[in-house]
Amino acid sequence: MRMLILGSPGAGKGTQSARLLAKYDVEVIVGGNVLRDEVSRATPIGLKAKEVMTRGELMPDSIMMELMSQKVVGMGGRHFLLDGFPRTLGQAEGLDRVLGEVGKGLTLVANLDVPEEVILGRVLDRWVHMPSGRTYNLSYNPPKEAGQDDITGEPLSKRPDDNVETFAARLQSYHAQTEPLREYFDSRSSSTRGKGGGLTFVNLEGRTSDEIWPKLERAVRRRYPWLQAKA
Ligand code: ADP
Repeated sequence: MRMLILGSPGAGKGTQSARLLAKYDVEVIVGGNVLRDEVSRATPIGLKAKEVMTRGELMPDSIMMELMSQKVVGMGGRHFLLDGFPRTLGQAEGLDRVLGEVGKGLTLVANLDVPEEVILGRVLDRWVHMPSGRTYNLSYNPPKEAGQDDITGEPLSKRPDDNVETFAARLQSYHAQTEPLREYFDSRSSSTRGKGGGLTFVNLEGRTSDEIWPKLERAVRRRYPWLQAKA
């Protein structure tokens, strides 16, 4: 399983990957988390990332490739799920190249297609348990105790880029740079159709994560029929 979850900011990529993680033995690599880790360690890349993220822009492809290539190739034969990387055509081509070199190209790309009008409200209501990345939503997925992580009881916080101003810029970056990846992967999937091990692209529409989840599960089971759910 070498899978990518695509979708606009706030489409629920994190929620869906958490569900896949709970159900199957896979590892997830989250582009945004790799950057937030650099920010929290105040590395040179982290200092730059902090600014770029606050503006709702994207980090340069060269830096993303430097951070992500080793991690992805280092997965070797293990099952993995990518979330938030690649986010530009340059990154997608770079990823294809490094995976191609080791003969381990992506096998499933799922695009979460959520109407834009639902997304902003979602992001403004979003609270995060920073250490684990668990997310909550005040309207449809609230924590059991207000302001506290369900598992550790530690405090929840707002992501600094989950505000109206930055979100508008993030959506703009998405439309300009990330949305074209749908077409990119869709066309690559048709060109390999029929060759057993190739790439499948699926577009999953829905207004809520609960609506999209069964569709995602179905796509995963169809592409990886041998994959065992955890006990
Ligand atoms: P979301 O998917 O909700 O926008 P992420 O945590 O994936 O949130 O990303 C947060 C920010 O990190 C992005 O707005 C961007 O500035 C930066 N970022 C994340 N992934 C990438 C990437 N692959 N390339 C460039 N910048 C990225």
